[in-house]
Amino acid sequence: MRFYNSKPWRTLSKQVLNENYYVCCVCGGDAALADHIVPIRVDWERRLDKNNIQPLCDSCHTIKTKKETKK
Ligand SMILES: [Zn+2]
Repeated sequence: MRFYNSKPWRTLSKQVLNENYYVCCVCGGDAALADHIVPIRVDWERRLDKNNIQPLCDSCHTIKTKKETKK
């Protein structure tokens, strides 16, 4: 999605990762990316809401995405 290449998102996601010391909020491993807790296709208004962003590692992100697409 185009939004993920936007500057505001990249700045904010980096900030969230930094503030959480790049620790995955699910397993405590190395976070690789910032994830929307409520997906932006569900709530577009919260795309830049810091309270809606969490650091995740690759595997936790894959699991979360799978769960969401199953619904
Ligand atoms: Zn993890």
